[in-house]
Amino acid sequence: MTNLLYDAFFAPQSGRDRAFLILPDGTEISGDAFLRMVHRVAHALVASGVQPGDRIAVQIEKSPMALAIYGGAVAAGAIFLPLNTAYTAAEIDYFVGNATPKLLLADGRKAEALTPVAQAHGAALMVVNADGSGSFADLAATQSEDFTPVERGADDLAAFLYTSGTTGRSKGAMLTHGNLLSNAKVLTAEWRFTDADVLLHALPIFHTHGLFVATNVSLMAGGAMIFLPGLNMDEMIRLMPRATTMMGVPTFYTRLLDDARFTADLTAHMRLFVSGSAPLLAETHVQFEDRTGHRILERYGMTETNMNTSNPYEGDRRAGTVGLPLPGVEVVVTDPTTGEVLPQGEVGMIEVRGPNVFKGYWQMPEKTREELRDTGFFITGDLGQFDPDGYLSIVGRQKDLIITGGFNVYPKEVELILDEQPGVLESAVVGVPHPDFGEAVLGVIVAEPGQSPDLQAIDQVLRGSLARFKQPKALKIVAALPRNTMGKVQKNELRNQFGDLFK
Ligand code: AMP
Repeated sequence: MTNLLYDAFFAPQSGRDRAFLILPDGTEISGDAFLRMVHRVAHALVASGVQPGDRIAVQIEKSPMALAIYGGAVAAGAIFLPLNTAYTAAEIDYFVGNATPKLLLADGRKAEALTPVAQAHGAALMVVNADGSGSFADLAATQSEDFTPVERGADDLAAFLYTSGTTGRSKGAMLTHGNLLSNAKVLTAEWRFTDADVLLHALPIFHTHGLFVATNVSLMAGGAMIFLPGLNMDEMIRLMPRATTMMGVPTFYTRLLDDARFTADLTAHMRLFVSGSAPLLAETHVQFEDRTGHRILERYGMTETNMNTSNPYEGDRRAGTVGLPLPGVEVVVTDPTTGEVLPQGEVGMIEVRGPNVFKGYWQMPEKTREELRDTGFFITGDLGQFDPDGYLSIVGRQKDLIITGGFNVYPKEVELILDEQPGVLESAVVGVPHPDFGEAVLGVIVAEPGQSPDLQAIDQVLRGSLARFKQPKALKIVAALPRNTMGKVQKNELRNQFGDLFK
């Protein structure tokens, strides 16, 4: 009997005595103990009426149990649907209505608010608390520790991950066993993960980065994870000596650099630092190397495709680029209007094809057709450019492209210049409505602590280095850029905040 993901990730944990999960309080859960949890959960899912192909929506805190539910869903042939713990009951109502899960697992504190949501869409609601209590956890506790996994092949669905939905309704990306396994294999090999690795894991596990990149790679390699509930600098620094690798969003790296306890000594034993989910500033890359001697390895991926490109493990890790296409993944840059592949060096739409690319959006055939070509290429919505050595750089999202007076402005080009100016920590460039130009370029700046950048001087530099249409019509200083939990700058919030500037 084959169950692709179970066989690759979970079955090998059998009999493993060494730690798979290391918790901040020092508790260690061995691979074997984790596998037994997975089996108990799989039985509890079956006992709750879950059948192969059913969805299980999960909005619970990060915990070993949350991860065991992922494993249990895989073993039972169900589709795992993790949800951001920050979503309100009204938001959950949309996901539950769209995915119609058989079971909704929630934190006890949210159970009351979610009861009508579950009822409205015919889902059973059960509770899993972070401390391991709750009705579903209790049910799982009484189950057998042996489970025969349900047969699942490469094309069977393993998970739905909803996109963050910044440009409309969130869409359920359908990910198959084949998608997740192919990416886990490639990343494990490319990044040289082995069973000696201990990954410092402070990412959420409702998103592709923490769930599929970090966890699947650790499972595939047979390594361990230091499993932190969230980003906490004291804990990161206290536990780093036990780790060999870390994966984070750029904010993790800037926060570490802000901490004087983060030194070359603290990281001397570390093997690898990986960054993704949002652009890592070239400056952060450089500062990190200056401080620690390590070059952060930046990679690029998304909910729908898992990971597409990566800087090399051995070889040149180029700051400001997301590296080279991963083995088995085709990446092309195309003309956004005609879809024709562009010559190397030109900026265009990034499209990807490979075993990592999802099956489509759940019950949204039109959206799927718009973004997934018949040829198998997925139109990412990201704009990028290849350098002569094949390294890809992300220039921005197509939706963030500014069209001012009929000219295209790629925000990144302006942001890179702003970021280099004295006193500027970081910046975001957005288009805001303008009566003459349609959109005007606006530069939003965050100052370095204690600095007040000279906006006139910056304006002079911009005039000297950019074509007139690319020059911001205004520069604004804000205390911080709005970011979501994955560290992505929410440009729509900036567009709202400054929407009336030129009206
Ligand atoms: P998500 O589906 O939430 O993982 O978001 C995926 C998007 O994050 C991509 O389409 C990119 O716009 C962005 N992204 C991911 N990794 C990187 C990276 N290394 N550099 C720049 N943008 C990135």
